[in-house]
Amino acid sequence: MTAGKGLCPHVTIVTAFPEFFGDFLSTSILGRAVKNGLVRVDLVDLREFGRGGYRQIDDYAFGSGGMVLAAPQLLDALNEARRRGGGEPFVVYPSPQGALLTQDIVETLAQQEHVVIFCGHYEGMDERFVEREVDLEVSVGDCVLTGGEIPAMMIVDAISRLVPGVVGRGGPAGGELSSAVAEDSFYRGMLDHPHYTRPASWEGLDVPPVLLSGNEAEVLAWRRARAVERTLSRRPDLLARAAIGDYLAGGVYLAARLTEGESLEALAALSGLCRFYGLGRPFLMVSDPERRRALGRETTPLDPAPRIVGGWRRLLEWIRSHEGDAPLLTVQVQSGPVEGALHCLEVKRRCLEWRGPVLFLLAGGEGPEEGEVLVTSLMRGPEDLPLEVRAAIALDRFLGKR
Ligand code: SAM
Repeated sequence: MTAGKGLCPHVTIVTAFPEFFGDFLSTSILGRAVKNGLVRVDLVDLREFGRGGYRQIDDYAFGSGGMVLAAPQLLDALNEARRRGGGEPFVVYPSPQGALLTQDIVETLAQQEHVVIFCGHYEGMDERFVEREVDLEVSVGDCVLTGGEIPAMMIVDAISRLVPGVVGRGGPAGGELSSAVAEDSFYRGMLDHPHYTRPASWEGLDVPPVLLSGNEAEVLAWRRARAVERTLSRRPDLLARAAIGDYLAGGVYLAARLTEGESLEALAALSGLCRFYGLGRPFLMVSDPERRRALGRETTPLDPAPRIVGGWRRLLEWIRSHEGDAPLLTVQVQSGPVEGALHCLEVKRRCLEWRGPVLFLLAGGEGPEEGEVLVTSLMRGPEDLPLEVRAAIALDRFLGKR
Protein backbone atom coordinates (compact mmCIF):
# COMPACT_ATOMS: atom_id res chain seq x y z
CA MET A 1 0.00 0.00 0.00
CA THR A 2 1.56 3.26 -1.03
CA ALA A 3 0.23 6.72 -0.60
CA GLY A 4 -1.78 8.91 -2.90
CA LYS A 5 -2.08 6.47 -5.85
CA GLY A 6 1.57 7.12 -6.58
CA LEU A 7 1.09 10.90 -6.32
CA CYS A 8 2.49 13.13 -3.63
CA PRO A 9 -0.13 13.12 -0.87
CA HIS A 10 -1.62 16.50 -0.08
CA VAL A 11 -2.79 17.25 3.45
CA THR A 12 -4.22 20.57 4.58
CA ILE A 13 -4.37 21.19 8.31
CA VAL A 14 -6.87 23.72 9.59
CA THR A 15 -5.77 25.02 12.97
CA ALA A 16 -6.02 28.06 15.20
CA PHE A 17 -2.41 27.39 16.21
CA PRO A 18 -0.28 26.98 13.06
CA GLU A 19 2.86 27.71 15.09
CA PHE A 20 2.59 24.16 16.49
CA PHE A 21 3.68 22.80 13.12
CA GLY A 22 6.86 24.78 12.39
CA ASP A 23 9.43 22.32 13.75
CA PHE A 24 7.24 19.34 12.99
CA LEU A 25 7.22 20.05 9.25
CA SER A 26 10.88 20.98 9.00
CA THR A 27 12.60 18.37 11.16
CA SER A 28 13.99 14.89 10.55
CA ILE A 29 12.31 12.44 8.18
CA LEU A 30 9.14 14.44 7.63
CA GLY A 31 11.11 17.67 7.18
CA ARG A 32 13.10 16.03 4.37
CA ALA A 33 9.95 14.59 2.80
CA VAL A 34 8.32 18.02 2.70
CA LYS A 35 11.47 19.69 1.45
CA ASN A 36 11.91 17.11 -1.31
CA GLY A 37 8.29 17.44 -2.40
CA LEU A 38 7.33 13.86 -1.46
CA VAL A 39 4.54 15.15 0.78
CA ARG A 40 2.66 18.44 0.54
CA VAL A 41 1.31 19.87 3.79
CA ASP A 42 -0.60 23.19 3.79
CA LEU A 43 -1.63 25.06 6.90
CA VAL A 44 -4.82 27.09 7.02
CA ASP A 45 -4.95 29.47 9.95
CA LEU A 46 -8.49 29.38 11.30
CA ARG A 47 -8.02 32.85 12.84
CA GLU A 48 -7.77 34.38 9.39
CA PHE A 49 -11.46 33.62 9.10
CA GLY A 50 -12.24 34.98 12.58
CA ARG A 51 -14.97 37.56 13.00
CA GLY A 52 -14.59 41.11 14.32
CA GLY A 53 -11.63 42.97 15.73
CA TYR A 54 -10.63 39.99 17.90
CA ARG A 55 -10.87 37.57 14.99
CA GLN A 56 -13.25 35.46 17.00
CA ILE A 57 -13.37 31.78 15.99
CA ASP A 58 -15.33 30.37 18.93
CA ASP A 59 -18.24 31.13 21.19
CA TYR A 60 -19.87 29.91 24.40
CA ALA A 61 -21.60 26.55 24.20
CA PHE A 62 -25.38 26.84 24.24
CA GLY A 63 -26.76 25.57 27.54
CA SER A 64 -23.53 26.48 29.36
CA GLY A 65 -20.12 24.84 29.19
CA GLY A 66 -16.86 25.89 27.54
CA MET A 67 -16.07 27.39 24.16
CA VAL A 68 -16.95 25.80 20.84
CA LEU A 69 -15.35 26.45 17.43
CA ALA A 70 -18.04 28.17 15.35
CA ALA A 71 -19.44 26.70 12.13
CA PRO A 72 -19.29 29.80 9.81
CA GLN A 73 -15.57 30.29 10.42
CA LEU A 74 -14.91 26.57 10.03
CA LEU A 75 -16.75 26.57 6.72
CA ASP A 76 -14.73 29.53 5.45
CA ALA A 77 -11.54 27.64 6.35
CA LEU A 78 -12.80 24.53 4.57
CA ASN A 79 -13.53 26.56 1.45
CA GLU A 80 -9.99 27.91 1.56
CA ALA A 81 -8.69 24.32 1.81
CA ARG A 82 -10.91 23.35 -1.14
CA ARG A 83 -9.49 26.23 -3.15
CA ARG A 84 -5.93 25.08 -2.45
CA GLY A 85 -6.60 21.45 -3.26
CA GLY A 86 -8.62 21.90 -6.39
CA GLY A 87 -11.14 19.09 -5.82
CA GLU A 88 -13.48 17.91 -3.10
CA PRO A 89 -11.23 16.89 -0.18
CA PHE A 90 -11.69 14.12 2.33
CA VAL A 91 -12.37 15.85 5.66
CA VAL A 92 -11.05 14.37 8.89
CA TYR A 93 -11.85 15.55 12.38
CA PRO A 94 -9.58 14.19 15.14
CA SER A 95 -11.90 13.69 18.08
CA PRO A 96 -11.92 11.47 21.17
CA GLN A 97 -15.30 10.25 19.95
CA GLY A 98 -13.99 9.00 16.60
CA ALA A 99 -12.92 5.57 15.43
CA LEU A 100 -9.58 4.54 16.89
CA LEU A 101 -6.78 5.44 14.48
CA THR A 102 -5.31 2.27 12.95
CA GLN A 103 -2.94 1.45 10.13
CA ASP A 104 -6.00 0.53 8.03
CA ILE A 105 -7.39 4.03 8.46
CA VAL A 106 -4.00 5.57 7.70
CA GLU A 107 -3.75 3.51 4.51
CA THR A 108 -7.25 4.58 3.51
CA LEU A 109 -6.34 8.22 4.08
CA ALA A 110 -3.12 7.76 2.14
CA GLN A 111 -5.20 6.83 -0.91
CA GLN A 112 -7.07 10.15 -0.85
CA GLU A 113 -5.85 12.86 -3.16
CA HIS A 114 -6.45 15.64 -0.66
CA VAL A 115 -7.08 15.22 3.05
CA VAL A 116 -8.16 18.16 5.19
CA ILE A 117 -7.70 17.78 8.94
CA PHE A 118 -9.62 20.05 11.30
CA CYS A 119 -7.92 20.52 14.66
CA GLY A 120 -10.56 20.95 17.31
CA HIS A 121 -9.95 22.94 20.48
CA TYR A 122 -11.80 23.81 23.68
CA GLU A 123 -15.04 21.75 23.69
CA GLY A 124 -14.59 20.90 20.03
CA MET A 125 -16.34 22.01 16.82
CA ASP A 126 -19.99 22.95 16.32
CA GLU A 127 -21.78 19.66 15.72
CA ARG A 128 -23.69 20.99 12.70
CA PHE A 129 -20.40 21.54 10.88
CA VAL A 130 -19.19 18.09 11.90
CA GLU A 131 -22.35 16.42 10.67
CA ARG A 132 -22.44 18.27 7.37
CA GLU A 133 -18.80 18.44 6.36
CA VAL A 134 -16.74 15.79 8.14
CA ASP A 135 -16.15 12.45 6.41
CA LEU A 136 -14.32 10.72 9.25
CA GLU A 137 -13.79 11.31 12.96
CA VAL A 138 -10.67 9.61 14.34
CA SER A 139 -9.44 9.25 17.87
CA VAL A 140 -5.80 8.70 18.76
CA GLY A 141 -6.68 6.95 22.01
CA ASP A 142 -9.17 6.80 24.83
CA CYS A 143 -7.90 9.96 26.49
CA VAL A 144 -8.64 13.64 26.01
CA LEU A 145 -6.08 16.11 24.64
CA THR A 146 -6.40 19.88 24.62
CA GLY A 147 -6.49 20.09 20.84
CA GLY A 148 -6.39 18.22 17.55
CA GLU A 149 -2.91 19.42 16.59
CA ILE A 150 -1.01 16.42 17.97
CA PRO A 151 -3.47 13.95 16.38
CA ALA A 152 -3.12 15.87 13.09
CA MET A 153 0.66 15.46 13.31
CA MET A 154 0.23 11.76 13.94
CA ILE A 155 -1.95 11.34 10.88
CA VAL A 156 0.40 13.33 8.61
CA ASP A 157 3.40 11.44 9.94
CA ALA A 158 1.78 8.02 9.46
CA ILE A 159 0.59 8.85 5.92
CA SER A 160 4.05 10.12 4.97
CA ARG A 161 5.74 6.85 5.93
CA LEU A 162 3.68 5.16 3.21
CA VAL A 163 5.20 7.34 0.49
CA PRO A 164 8.05 5.54 -1.26
CA GLY A 165 11.29 7.38 -0.62
CA VAL A 166 10.26 8.96 2.70
CA VAL A 167 11.62 6.21 4.96
CA GLY A 168 14.72 4.10 4.43
CA ARG A 169 16.21 3.30 1.07
CA GLY A 170 12.99 2.96 -0.93
CA GLY A 171 12.88 4.56 -4.35
CA PRO A 172 11.36 7.94 -5.18
CA ALA A 173 7.62 8.63 -5.08
CA GLY A 174 5.77 6.06 -7.15
CA GLY A 175 8.55 3.50 -6.61
CA GLU A 176 8.96 0.72 -4.09
CA LEU A 177 8.13 1.14 -0.43
CA SER A 178 11.14 0.63 1.83
CA SER A 179 11.38 -2.85 3.31
CA ALA A 180 11.78 -1.13 6.70
CA VAL A 181 8.19 0.15 6.43
CA ALA A 182 6.82 -3.17 5.19
CA GLU A 183 8.47 -4.94 8.16
CA ASP A 184 7.09 -2.44 10.67
CA SER A 185 4.31 -3.27 13.05
CA PHE A 186 0.80 -3.33 11.55
CA TYR A 187 1.87 -3.03 7.91
CA ARG A 188 1.17 -6.71 7.29
CA GLY A 189 -1.01 -6.88 10.36
CA MET A 190 1.81 -8.25 12.54
CA LEU A 191 4.10 -6.64 15.12
CA ASP A 192 7.72 -5.90 14.25
CA HIS A 193 10.62 -7.98 15.61
CA PRO A 194 12.97 -6.56 18.29
CA HIS A 195 15.95 -4.43 17.19
CA TYR A 196 19.49 -4.17 18.58
CA THR A 197 22.57 -2.09 17.79
CA ARG A 198 26.19 -1.83 18.98
CA PRO A 199 27.69 -2.62 21.41
CA ALA A 200 27.00 -6.33 20.94
CA SER A 201 27.42 -6.78 24.68
CA TRP A 202 26.10 -4.17 27.09
CA GLU A 203 26.19 -4.48 30.88
CA GLY A 204 26.33 -8.27 30.64
CA LEU A 205 23.45 -8.41 28.12
CA ASP A 206 24.36 -9.89 24.74
CA VAL A 207 22.44 -9.48 21.53
CA PRO A 208 21.09 -12.75 20.12
CA PRO A 209 24.11 -14.45 18.45
CA VAL A 210 22.24 -15.13 15.19
CA LEU A 211 22.23 -11.39 14.50
CA LEU A 212 26.04 -11.40 14.46
CA SER A 213 26.28 -14.48 12.24
CA GLY A 214 26.14 -12.65 8.92
CA ASN A 215 23.77 -15.36 7.66
CA GLU A 216 20.96 -13.36 6.05
CA ALA A 217 18.55 -16.27 5.75
CA GLU A 218 18.96 -17.16 9.42
CA VAL A 219 18.59 -13.53 10.49
CA LEU A 220 15.38 -13.25 8.47
CA ALA A 221 14.01 -16.49 9.92
CA TRP A 222 14.88 -15.29 13.45
CA ARG A 223 13.17 -11.94 12.85
CA ARG A 224 10.03 -13.52 11.46
CA ALA A 225 9.87 -15.96 14.38
CA ARG A 226 10.21 -13.14 16.94
CA ALA A 227 7.55 -11.09 15.14
CA VAL A 228 5.23 -14.10 15.34
CA GLU A 229 5.93 -14.64 19.04
CA ARG A 230 5.30 -10.98 19.82
CA THR A 231 2.11 -10.75 17.84
CA LEU A 232 0.67 -13.92 19.34
CA SER A 233 1.58 -13.01 22.91
CA ARG A 234 0.95 -9.25 22.89
CA ARG A 235 -1.65 -8.59 20.21
CA PRO A 236 -3.43 -11.80 19.17
CA ASP A 237 -6.34 -9.58 18.15
CA LEU A 238 -4.30 -8.46 15.13
CA LEU A 239 -4.49 -11.91 13.55
CA ALA A 240 -7.81 -11.15 11.89
CA ARG A 241 -6.14 -8.75 9.45
CA ALA A 242 -2.67 -10.28 9.39
CA ALA A 243 -1.24 -11.43 6.06
CA ILE A 244 0.70 -14.37 7.47
CA GLY A 245 2.38 -15.69 4.32
CA ASP A 246 5.74 -14.04 4.98
CA TYR A 247 5.79 -15.31 8.57
CA LEU A 248 5.32 -19.00 7.96
CA ALA A 249 8.45 -21.00 8.70
CA GLY A 250 8.21 -23.45 5.78
CA GLY A 251 6.79 -23.55 2.27
CA VAL A 252 3.10 -22.94 1.58
CA TYR A 253 1.16 -25.22 -0.77
CA LEU A 254 -2.29 -25.39 -2.23
CA ALA A 255 -3.89 -28.70 -3.11
CA ALA A 256 -7.31 -29.63 -4.44
CA ARG A 257 -8.97 -32.97 -4.84
CA LEU A 258 -10.62 -32.94 -8.24
CA THR A 259 -14.00 -34.40 -8.86
CA GLU A 260 -15.35 -34.73 -12.36
CA GLY A 261 -16.50 -31.37 -13.48
CA GLU A 262 -13.60 -28.91 -13.14
CA SER A 263 -12.89 -26.93 -16.28
CA LEU A 264 -9.45 -25.98 -17.54
CA GLU A 265 -10.39 -22.36 -16.76
CA ALA A 266 -10.94 -23.30 -13.12
CA LEU A 267 -7.53 -24.99 -12.97
CA ALA A 268 -5.94 -21.98 -14.68
CA ALA A 269 -7.50 -19.82 -11.99
CA LEU A 270 -5.90 -22.01 -9.30
CA SER A 271 -2.52 -21.55 -10.95
CA GLY A 272 -3.15 -17.82 -11.15
CA LEU A 273 -3.92 -17.70 -7.44
CA CYS A 274 -0.70 -19.57 -6.63
CA ARG A 275 1.21 -17.06 -8.74
CA PHE A 276 -0.53 -14.12 -7.08
CA TYR A 277 0.21 -15.34 -3.55
CA GLY A 278 3.75 -16.43 -4.37
CA LEU A 279 3.08 -20.16 -3.84
CA GLY A 280 4.63 -22.93 -5.89
CA ARG A 281 2.75 -25.15 -8.30
CA PRO A 282 -0.71 -26.20 -7.09
CA PHE A 283 -1.32 -29.90 -6.46
CA LEU A 284 -4.26 -31.58 -8.08
CA MET A 285 -5.27 -34.95 -6.72
CA VAL A 286 -6.89 -37.18 -9.30
CA SER A 287 -7.41 -40.85 -8.58
CA ASP A 288 -8.16 -42.02 -12.17
CA PRO A 289 -4.83 -42.62 -14.01
CA GLU A 290 -6.43 -41.93 -17.42
CA ARG A 291 -7.65 -38.55 -16.33
CA ARG A 292 -4.31 -37.82 -14.66
CA ARG A 293 -2.52 -38.33 -17.95
CA ALA A 294 -5.03 -36.24 -19.91
CA LEU A 295 -4.87 -33.42 -17.35
CA GLY A 296 -1.09 -33.54 -17.38
CA ARG A 297 -1.15 -32.74 -21.10
CA GLU A 298 -3.87 -30.09 -20.86
CA THR A 299 -2.39 -28.21 -17.92
CA THR A 300 1.25 -28.07 -19.04
CA PRO A 301 0.86 -24.53 -20.48
CA LEU A 302 -0.54 -23.15 -17.20
CA ASP A 303 1.68 -20.86 -15.18
CA PRO A 304 2.62 -22.46 -12.85
CA ALA A 305 1.67 -25.87 -14.25
CA PRO A 306 -0.02 -27.96 -11.54
CA ARG A 307 1.53 -31.12 -10.13
CA ILE A 308 -0.95 -33.88 -10.71
CA VAL A 309 -0.81 -36.68 -8.17
CA GLY A 310 -2.85 -39.78 -7.53
CA GLY A 311 -3.56 -39.17 -3.88
CA TRP A 312 -2.48 -38.22 -0.44
CA ARG A 313 0.57 -40.38 -0.17
CA ARG A 314 2.29 -38.88 -3.23
CA LEU A 315 1.39 -35.38 -2.20
CA LEU A 316 2.74 -35.72 1.32
CA GLU A 317 5.84 -37.57 0.12
CA TRP A 318 6.62 -34.78 -2.30
CA ILE A 319 6.32 -32.07 0.35
CA ARG A 320 8.28 -34.05 2.90
CA SER A 321 11.11 -34.73 0.47
CA HIS A 322 11.36 -31.03 -0.45
CA GLU A 323 10.82 -29.54 2.98
CA GLY A 324 12.29 -32.22 5.19
CA ASP A 325 9.09 -32.12 7.21
CA ALA A 326 5.45 -33.14 6.93
CA PRO A 327 3.08 -30.24 6.36
CA LEU A 328 0.50 -28.89 8.71
CA LEU A 329 -2.70 -29.55 6.87
CA THR A 330 -5.43 -27.02 6.92
CA VAL A 331 -8.48 -28.43 5.26
CA GLN A 332 -10.93 -25.88 3.97
CA VAL A 333 -14.35 -27.43 3.92
CA GLN A 334 -17.15 -25.67 2.22
CA SER A 335 -20.06 -25.57 4.57
CA GLY A 336 -20.61 -25.94 8.24
CA PRO A 337 -21.14 -26.87 10.91
CA VAL A 338 -18.36 -29.45 10.72
CA GLU A 339 -17.56 -31.45 13.81
CA GLY A 340 -14.19 -30.44 15.23
CA ALA A 341 -13.79 -27.53 12.81
CA LEU A 342 -11.68 -24.70 14.15
CA HIS A 343 -12.29 -21.05 13.67
CA CYS A 344 -10.19 -19.54 10.90
CA LEU A 345 -8.32 -17.33 13.40
CA GLU A 346 -7.31 -20.34 15.47
CA VAL A 347 -6.05 -22.08 12.33
CA LYS A 348 -4.11 -18.95 11.45
CA ARG A 349 -2.54 -18.94 14.90
CA ARG A 350 -1.54 -22.60 14.61
CA CYS A 351 -0.08 -22.06 11.16
CA LEU A 352 2.13 -19.33 12.63
CA GLU A 353 3.25 -21.55 15.50
CA TRP A 354 4.04 -24.45 13.18
CA ARG A 355 7.71 -24.62 12.30
CA GLY A 356 7.29 -26.54 9.02
CA PRO A 357 5.39 -26.32 5.73
CA VAL A 358 1.67 -25.61 5.52
CA LEU A 359 -0.71 -27.16 3.04
CA PHE A 360 -4.05 -25.57 2.25
CA LEU A 361 -6.33 -28.27 1.03
CA LEU A 362 -9.63 -27.70 -0.69
CA ALA A 363 -11.37 -30.72 0.63
CA GLY A 364 -13.68 -33.27 -0.74
CA GLY A 365 -13.65 -36.82 0.54
CA GLU A 366 -11.44 -38.19 3.28
CA GLY A 367 -8.37 -36.43 4.58
CA PRO A 368 -5.04 -38.17 5.16
CA GLU A 369 -4.46 -40.10 8.34
CA GLU A 370 -1.01 -38.82 9.12
CA GLY A 371 0.11 -35.34 10.07
CA GLU A 372 -1.80 -32.77 12.03
CA VAL A 373 -5.01 -31.80 10.30
CA LEU A 374 -6.91 -28.64 11.05
CA VAL A 375 -10.31 -28.23 9.58
CA THR A 376 -11.74 -24.82 9.05
CA SER A 377 -15.13 -24.11 7.65
CA LEU A 378 -14.96 -21.57 4.86
CA MET A 379 -18.51 -20.38 4.95
CA ARG A 380 -22.05 -21.38 5.50
CA GLY A 381 -24.01 -21.12 2.33
CA PRO A 382 -26.78 -23.03 0.67
CA GLU A 383 -24.83 -23.65 -2.53
CA ASP A 384 -21.50 -25.17 -3.42
CA LEU A 385 -19.07 -22.62 -4.74
CA PRO A 386 -16.76 -23.36 -7.66
CA LEU A 387 -13.32 -24.67 -6.76
CA GLU A 388 -11.44 -21.54 -7.78
CA VAL A 389 -13.74 -19.30 -5.73
CA ARG A 390 -13.20 -21.48 -2.66
CA ALA A 391 -9.46 -21.34 -3.26
CA ALA A 392 -9.53 -17.55 -3.53
CA ILE A 393 -11.50 -17.21 -0.30
CA ALA A 394 -9.23 -19.61 1.59
CA LEU A 395 -6.00 -18.01 0.42
CA ASP A 396 -7.27 -14.50 0.98
CA ARG A 397 -8.24 -15.32 4.57
CA PHE A 398 -4.77 -16.54 5.39
CA LEU A 399 -2.42 -14.73 3.07
CA GLY A 400 -4.32 -11.67 1.86
CA LYS A 401 -3.63 -8.22 3.20
CA ARG A 402 -6.60 -6.62 4.89
N1 SAM B 1 -15.48 17.80 24.51
C1 SAM B 1 -14.73 16.82 23.78
C2 SAM B 1 -15.12 15.44 24.25
O1 SAM B 1 -15.16 15.20 25.46
O2 SAM B 1 -15.36 14.56 23.41
C3 SAM B 1 -13.25 16.97 23.97
C4 SAM B 1 -12.70 18.17 23.31
S1 SAM B 1 -10.96 18.20 23.38
C5 SAM B 1 -10.67 19.04 24.88
C6 SAM B 1 -10.51 19.39 22.20
C7 SAM B 1 -10.09 18.83 20.86
O3 SAM B 1 -8.94 18.04 21.02
C8 SAM B 1 -11.08 17.93 20.18
O4 SAM B 1 -12.05 18.66 19.48
C9 SAM B 1 -10.20 17.12 19.27
O5 SAM B 1 -9.95 17.77 18.05
C10 SAM B 1 -8.91 17.03 20.05
N2 SAM B 1 -8.79 15.75 20.77
C11 SAM B 1 -8.81 15.57 22.09
N3 SAM B 1 -8.65 14.30 22.42
C12 SAM B 1 -8.50 13.62 21.27
C13 SAM B 1 -8.30 12.27 20.94
N4 SAM B 1 -8.24 11.32 21.87
N5 SAM B 1 -8.20 11.94 19.64
C14 SAM B 1 -8.27 12.87 18.69
N6 SAM B 1 -8.47 14.17 18.92
C15 SAM B 1 -8.58 14.55 20.19
